[in-house]
Amino acid sequence: MTAAAPASEGFRPHAIIIGSGFGGLAAAVRLAAKGWRVTVVEKLDAPGGRAYVFKQDGYTFDAGPTIITAPHLIEELWTLAGRRLNDDVDLRPVDPFYSIRFNDGEVMRCSADLDVTRAEIARIAPEDSENFERFIAESQRVFDVAFTQLADKPFDKLSKLFRAVPDLVRLRGYRTVYGRVSDYFSNDKMRIAFSFHPLLIGGNPMTTTAYYCLIAHLERLHGVHYTMGGMGSLVRGIAKLAEGLGASFRYNAEVATIETLGNRATGVTLASGETLASDIVVSNADVAWTYSKLLESYPRKRWTDRKILRSKFSMSLFVWYFGTNRKYEDVPHHMMLLGPRYCELLKEIFVKKTLSADFSLYLHRPTATDTSLAPAGCDSFYVLSPVPHLESGVDWSKEAEPYRKMVEQRLEQTVLPGLSSAIVTQRLMTPQDFRDRLLSVNGAAFALEPRLFQSAWFRPHNISEEVDGLYLVGAGTHPGAGIPGVISSAKVLDEVVPAAATFRR
Ligand SMILES: Cc1cc2nc3c(=O)[nH]c(=O)nc-3n(C[C@H](O)[C@H](O)[C@H](O)COP(=O)(O)OP(=O)(O)OC[C@H]3O[C@@H](n4cnc5c(N)ncnc54)[C@H](O)[C@@H]3O)c2cc1C
Repeated sequence: MTAAAPASEGFRPHAIIIGSGFGGLAAAVRLAAKGWRVTVVEKLDAPGGRAYVFKQDGYTFDAGPTIITAPHLIEELWTLAGRRLNDDVDLRPVDPFYSIRFNDGEVMRCSADLDVTRAEIARIAPEDSENFERFIAESQRVFDVAFTQLADKPFDKLSKLFRAVPDLVRLRGYRTVYGRVSDYFSNDKMRIAFSFHPLLIGGNPMTTTAYYCLIAHLERLHGVHYTMGGMGSLVRGIAKLAEGLGASFRYNAEVATIETLGNRATGVTLASGETLASDIVVSNADVAWTYSKLLESYPRKRWTDRKILRSKFSMSLFVWYFGTNRKYEDVPHHMMLLGPRYCELLKEIFVKKTLSADFSLYLHRPTATDTSLAPAGCDSFYVLSPVPHLESGVDWSKEAEPYRKMVEQRLEQTVLPGLSSAIVTQRLMTPQDFRDRLLSVNGAAFALEPRLFQSAWFRPHNISEEVDGLYLVGAGTHPGAGIPGVISSAKVLDEVVPAAATFRR
């Protein structure tokens, strides 16, 4: 452990933020707005993290998130900076939200318009028509507690956990999403359609706390949105907002160690050997990586290597980005293509950690809404398949191409006829890229799995339990993965980090 040089400049204390994912970017805006001198240190050559943008051969590919469900949380960042979101980012509602194609070819459109969704349920599963209303009411009850009251508050004290227990019991948060959805729906297709959402944040619907049933209400309350120009325009927008408040960004700068003096964070040392001093450090790096690698030799009490090793990590993803020389006008912006199995497949991904020969896919066709992402007359796509994280032992340097071929065949046989001869550019992201490029333990795509005993107080706290002056934002800390989650994690900083003017070392 080494002490870094003095950090403060004049009267402004200095905050270093490790990583520029949505959590790190939102933290930069919030701390800069509180008067901190902010430096964001990012390993990659551009901001965004999982929301990085790949551009190749005239096509633009958003690497990760595509669905924005809580635009008001983003708007708050602009308000903090005294600006209006609409002046910088063109956010548009997408409707239908997404279509779900079941294995037998039947397609269900899920829409903001309740009448459309009702009609879809009446057509596919008339026996569940009434149950939809009851489920949405339940989803709202959970949302009012789990999202509105808890998501952007620190969960750092056991007393807070005890206070939350009566609601947990009343709302049956101890049940699983699939179990709770099955209480309402009897039709298998409806059980899938209303329970798959935890997969969007790395959770297994069979084990994730029923609190995540709130997503159904969240989607309907605020809608599903897309930023014109792709997710990159939102990333750049928030980075510019932070810069406008005085934050500076250093790219191609990997942090190797969080420096400490006694039990206090004093800055970071980069892989290049350079040391940067600060009064506080905020880590947006993978939480397991932060504790096990960036604080490798620091004597940790709670987040020991043993505890991290025994934690349950989210699944990983196989993502294939491709551009076609033609358009597929019938394919909507967001589509789930379900395979023949659901419960068993989830077990193989999350529990057995084996790579299955069948899969369920999410297909993204942003050019359905925004033609700027591909040359004229062409489409830009990505398709993702949830796969086990690296404890599976799968060697993706060997498996990636055969797996991609299977995915291509499935798409060609279902919604993208003639695909193999239409592809003009492509690239892949496998669990190994999540580990090596984004420094995520086990190559997990969404950090720690959102299980009951890895949520709230049980999750690594936003205010580090180990090191004074260290704070955590992003998918692995409270409240969890997904853009609303990681932006809320940065909002917690408002409560736990003092304003620059009142900060005392
Ligand atoms: C394919 C995919 C699709 C998704 N779809 C959606 C969606 O539609 N909607 C939604 O809401 N969510 C979605 N998610 C989840 C969401 O994208 C993530 O939960 C969220 O973006 C993670 O943000 P984060 O703040 O945790 O940071 P991350 O995006 O994980 O970024 C962390 C950053 O830290 C940097 N870093 C790490 N270690 C170091 C170090 N040592 N030194 C310097 N820098 C470092 C990394 O390079 C990276 O830039 C998706 C995720 C994926 C992977």
